[in-house]
Amino acid sequence: MKSLLMRSPIAIALFWIGTYLLITVLPLFILLIYPPPGGGGFWVEFSVALGFIGLAMMALQFVITARINRIEASYGVDILLQFHRFTSLTAFLMVLIHPIMLFIVQPETQQLLNFFEAPWRARMAILGTLAFIVMVVTTIWRKPLRIPYEPWRMSHTILSVLAVGLGLGHALGVANYLSLFWKKMLWTAMALIALWLIIYVRLIKPWMMSKKPYLVEAVTQQRGNVWTLALRPWGHDGFCFHPGQFSWLTLGITPFSMREHPFSMSSNGDHSGRIEFGIKALGDFTRTIKDIPPGTKAYLDGPYGVFTIDRYEDTAGFVLIAGGIGITPMLSMLATAAERKDDRPYLLIYASKTWDSITFREELEALEEKLDLKIVHVLREPPEAWKGEQGYVDKALLARYMPKYKGTRQYFICAAPKMMEQVEQALHNLNVPVTQVHMEHFNLA
Ligand SMILES: Cc1cc2nc3c(=O)[nH]c(=O)nc-3n(C[C@H](O)[C@H](O)[C@H](O)COP(=O)(O)OP(=O)(O)OC[C@H]3O[C@@H](n4cnc5c(N)ncnc54)[C@H](O)[C@@H]3O)c2cc1C
Repeated sequence: MKSLLMRSPIAIALFWIGTYLLITVLPLFILLIYPPPGGGGFWVEFSVALGFIGLAMMALQFVITARINRIEASYGVDILLQFHRFTSLTAFLMVLIHPIMLFIVQPETQQLLNFFEAPWRARMAILGTLAFIVMVVTTIWRKPLRIPYEPWRMSHTILSVLAVGLGLGHALGVANYLSLFWKKMLWTAMALIALWLIIYVRLIKPWMMSKKPYLVEAVTQQRGNVWTLALRPWGHDGFCFHPGQFSWLTLGITPFSMREHPFSMSSNGDHSGRIEFGIKALGDFTRTIKDIPPGTKAYLDGPYGVFTIDRYEDTAGFVLIAGGIGITPMLSMLATAAERKDDRPYLLIYASKTWDSITFREELEALEEKLDLKIVHVLREPPEAWKGEQGYVDKALLARYMPKYKGTRQYFICAAPKMMEQVEQALHNLNVPVTQVHMEHFNLA
């Protein structure tokens, strides 16, 4: 059965972009059809248009981040998040320019900044803009401000609801532009859709997940401070996935927790009865994995992602480039390909610190026996007698191993951000077509 992931992806992607553009400019069309009474001149109208588009773009962020499978499967989480960041910042600028322009063109409107004397519609605008500013500042500078991920995520949700809610309240309060009943209906509908998406993500989806729990079957130590967490579905069949995809994992008694973390499945995508993750102990949550007792309840929201060999059934072969824990989606792809008796060539270029810290080293060696697989280990701190590759994965190293006809392969990169950037650039310099390079970033925020 072909999933949505593989059905005419370009047409589906274009459909979503078209829908996005249509919704963002809809308020402007309405203004064109029903121009505001009186009219305040070009700059006033322009400023109002900016405010409307900014608000529509902000409301649409709830759709982009709602993990809607159909949208996610067209682009992948990486592109969606980049789009979320870019469009949020654009909306932010529009929302800021909107009042500044008004204050310049109609200086008397500056009185609306007097919070205590201003009407409610202006107060809502001030509060909404403040919420937006705090949200943008805490997101861009989260790490320098030392805000831990979970409190940030919680505050990001609350601030976004406040910003959009107050923005809509402001728009509805400005009678000039929204006096017509059906214009009010349009904005109210947008607000309700955004609200529904929050309810869906925070309540309905977790409730659906609670009906399909998993149990921790085993936690096994791997090389490189990594732990394999094996889950077994409890009272249901689990799910198959495209190797390379990931899920959001929640451990504990309830799926309603805000503590959910994304992890790529490291096991065979065709085996729904046991799902494994290779988790590197790096932070608050991942350091606790080793102590999770078997029998602990777990919940999975997934599978997600487009980082998978399954999208390229017609390709001649694959080049997988991994750094450290970036090996997990690659292991899943290789294990699945081996069991499917895939006879295409696979090249794995795998960067690790030392020989002893190579995560899944033995599992990969075993796969060399079952697949047309060549593994090139690249060590940053090689042992004395090491004759293999060392240092970094750069253009010269890639050129030594890459197939002669570079355009006949699909290239998958998953590693630390810096390595991913360098490898992407090196592949570009080696004339690998950009459409054949696929990346999975592990650092979402
Ligand atoms: C698509 C994808 C697949 C991934 N696959 C793997 C994998 O197979 N193995 C693996 O070890 N790691 C994987 N990660 C990374 C993993 O999600 C983070 O290392 C983990 O969430 C960090 O949590 P922590 O509390 O231990 O670390 P912390 O020290 O609290 O956080 C370290 C950093 O990780 C990020 N982070 C923390 N919590 C979350 C969260 N809930 N959601 C998203 N990011 C968060 C933040 O940028 C944070 O600053 C993947 C990430 C993504 C996006």
